[in-house]
Amino acid sequence: MAQLSDDCFAFGGPMMSVDEAVGIIAARVTKVAAVETVSLAEADGRVLARDVAAPLPLPPFTNSAVDGYALASRDLPRDEARSFPLAGRVQAGAAAQPARPGHAVRIFTGAPMPEGTDTVFMQEDVTIDDSGRVMLPAGLKPGANVRPAGEDISEGAVALQAGQRLRPQDVALAAAFGLTGLQVVRRLRVAVFSTGNELASPGSVRAGPQLFDSNRFMLMAMLKRLGCAVSDLGILRDERAALALGLKQVASHHDLILTTGGVSTGEEDHVRAAVESVGKLVLWRMAIKPGRPVAMGIIDGAPLIGLPGNPVASFVTFVHVVRPTVLALSGARAAPLLPMPVRAAFTYKKKLGRREYVRVFLSKREEGGLEAQKFPREGAGLLSSLVETDGLAELGEAMTKVEPGDTIGFLGYAGLL
Ligand code: AMP
Ligand code: MG
Repeated sequence: MAQLSDDCFAFGGPMMSVDEAVGIIAARVTKVAAVETVSLAEADGRVLARDVAAPLPLPPFTNSAVDGYALASRDLPRDEARSFPLAGRVQAGAAAQPARPGHAVRIFTGAPMPEGTDTVFMQEDVTIDDSGRVMLPAGLKPGANVRPAGEDISEGAVALQAGQRLRPQDVALAAAFGLTGLQVVRRLRVAVFSTGNELASPGSVRAGPQLFDSNRFMLMAMLKRLGCAVSDLGILRDERAALALGLKQVASHHDLILTTGGVSTGEEDHVRAAVESVGKLVLWRMAIKPGRPVAMGIIDGAPLIGLPGNPVASFVTFVHVVRPTVLALSGARAAPLLPMPVRAAFTYKKKLGRREYVRVFLSKREEGGLEAQKFPREGAGLLSSLVETDGLAELGEAMTKVEPGDTIGFLGYAGLL
């Protein structure tokens, strides 16, 4: 399990910027050491634990990039087209015989280049005459339409780096090397709790003043997209003792504990007191909107993150606190979120010194480029605002307003996880 020191999340200042939070997490969270081997079919989304050096060059042998006719470059027609006798035919997957000097060889895409040839004419550029000779045009460059062995990756080069969150193209590269499995960091085990007497689980009876717990399902889905194995621990009541017991019980066999709700300063916010009674707690007052204080703690060496209860605040703080923690714990290489510049089509006033995230729709402009339109309402409890929009506009600490035509940064939901 992850073992972090008690003061891992300690922070000196009163307000923490998003960048400071990400910096502390990256510097102080150590990765889980356990490694396992998974088959290629299971590797997508996992974090590579060791560098992969190319056991063979790619492509492994020099081959034709097109269907056509192979020739030695010393025979290439210089000034005008010339006809050549044909000898031999080599298709993909077949061994090539050495070429006869002065002859062209019929060849297909992916077939090995016959010895004595180094250039291929595309079949669309040639004509075959009645006597079976092939007319090759002048002006082709030596080596054209040939893929030399190792042009993609040379043998021994580090082709995949430890810390890579494996994508389909990374898995393809491992397969091209003939590997059947990859060493990856074992999945993080994350415990997820909701807190609040007002919450009912979908499937149970909802009393009049209750609402169905939605955050837990959002957070579990986000964690799964980050490759975590999630324990769904249901809803804890707003009682210090029950919360403390619940958290303490899961700490020893999880790498991260995630809660939502109950972390602000109201009398019925008991997560802080509960964490303090079984571990160490610090509150991060982050200069971010939406978002309230985020609770950071350590219980028996396992990190705990307490997110606010409002769904949109929970979503945004997940992105900026939970995501980097999960990536650091799983040894994934830092993946800064890079907002894409788009044109604002709305007016908005914001507080200096605070990073704000506005839910926006993205559309194409007739004049070219992309335009972001703000969701008409702002409440941090509006789930529809997350469902209907395309992503978040990131408004930096130094900004105080947005006006139509301004360039702002856009983070699409798909790119956040
Ligand atoms: P809290 O952070 O506990 O003060 O909760 C803030 C708001 O978020 C309240 O209106 C809660 O009812 C709501 N809330 C808290 N937890 C959840 C949850 N798991 N799902 C949906 N809404 C929640
Ligand atoms: Mg609550």
